[in-house]
Amino acid sequence: MFISKSFIPILKNNPAEAKIKSHQLMLRVGMIKQSSAGIYSWLPLGFKVMKKIEKIVREEQNRIGAQELLMPTIQSSDIWKESGRYDEYGEEMLRIKDRQNREMLYGPTNEELITEIFRSSVKSYKSLPQLLYHIQWKFRDELRPRFGIMRCREFYMKDAYSFDISDEEALFSYNKFFLSYLKTFKRLELTAIPMAADTGPIGGNLSHEFIILADTGESKIFTDKRIFDLNSDGSKIEKKSLEELRKKYEKFYAVTDEKFNKNDFEKKVPEDYRLTTKGIEVGHIFYFGDKYSKPLNAGVDLPGGKKDFVKMGSYGVGVSRLVGAIIEAKYNEKDEVMKWPLSVAPYEVAIIPLINKNEASSLEKSKNIYNFLKNKNIDVILDDTDENFSSKMKKFNLIGVPYQILLGKKSHGDLIEFVEIGKDPQSLSLEQIVKILTEQKENI
Ligand code: ATP
Ligand code: MG
Repeated sequence: MFISKSFIPILKNNPAEAKIKSHQLMLRVGMIKQSSAGIYSWLPLGFKVMKKIEKIVREEQNRIGAQELLMPTIQSSDIWKESGRYDEYGEEMLRIKDRQNREMLYGPTNEELITEIFRSSVKSYKSLPQLLYHIQWKFRDELRPRFGIMRCREFYMKDAYSFDISDEEALFSYNKFFLSYLKTFKRLELTAIPMAADTGPIGGNLSHEFIILADTGESKIFTDKRIFDLNSDGSKIEKKSLEELRKKYEKFYAVTDEKFNKNDFEKKVPEDYRLTTKGIEVGHIFYFGDKYSKPLNAGVDLPGGKKDFVKMGSYGVGVSRLVGAIIEAKYNEKDEVMKWPLSVAPYEVAIIPLINKNEASSLEKSKNIYNFLKNKNIDVILDDTDENFSSKMKKFNLIGVPYQILLGKKSHGDLIEFVEIGKDPQSLSLEQIVKILTEQKENI
């Protein structure tokens, strides 16, 4: 992409209506535009980041054997009446009438619809387990939409659903998602802690919220610091290994305020390890047995011939919220610089030539480098405008493109000035630059 041809409407100043960094930055660099309260258009830069996040989320779902499908955004009220949630869900549900006066709704979540799809075709335990997911827009008529796309009304979510024959098998499914979430957030360079959570309107028995630390987060959290040292390395997708992984995390106290108990906290966590802070919920997993399969009559034949309701779980990731959450986690307040993880950066490298009347060759050279990098599958943007050098650099520091190639006075012959945001510049050949980038990408 050449900046002169791009649609990146950058604002001169931070918009006054935005209170937190991610909201300010996303408006400032033209990633999103509000269309009405809590409803946003995703402009090219923001859309690109969201799509890269979506790709990682998808790969990690597929890795545990979940299958992707796509359910509609608009649902019929019938199935919600069957489950009993049509009234229960309250004003957060956007209700719509079609021209035949039928009650429809914009889906806030999909337990009912997926159960209806499942029950219409799966009849035997032999088809279990089934792990199904989609990545689709949701609508929740939040009372106070705020912080941009962090708490909005229309948002993009990955929601998965598991169907199993028994509690034991269902727990195995739950644990697969537990693992896949740890891996997903790691690839996004986030430390997301699984915290024991309330099951809320979804209902059920077992639940974890995946929370990243951020002062601007809306969840109050109480945790044992030692949980930050854990990881999922070496876990295999088999029952014992995954149960051990979850237990390893559950050994440490980590809860949101709904589950907080002062006595437990003080008893279970030595004083030096206690951490009380705030965080952003980026994912949430639930096990709820037959809460939906029973009212919706989704049963299968068991080996002995008897019939039973399937045991279900549901597993959400806030794909659009993650765009903001990554900014909250990666923005450097002191230097006013954003640095996107390479895995989801809107562009991986920016080429910044010094362009003035006497230096037409610099633009020529930068175009050659641009083509070379493109051919190596590197996501690159070239600033071909005649803005001055330092304001170009400021612009890319603000957008957060993690690497920059500076074709100024310091680039001589075959050696190019190459900068990783926050680090000292290096003088490298183009081949060395490609090597650095490709090696990093292989590790994502
Ligand atoms: P919250 O507690 O933040 O309101 P929730 O518990 O109601 O979220 P879930 O039903 O667990 O949300 O949805 C799964 C994920 O979808 C959440 O972990 C979050 O990342 C995302 N999400 C939920 N509500 C919103 C929203 N209003 N705007 C953006 N993302 C959201
Ligand atoms: Mg939740």
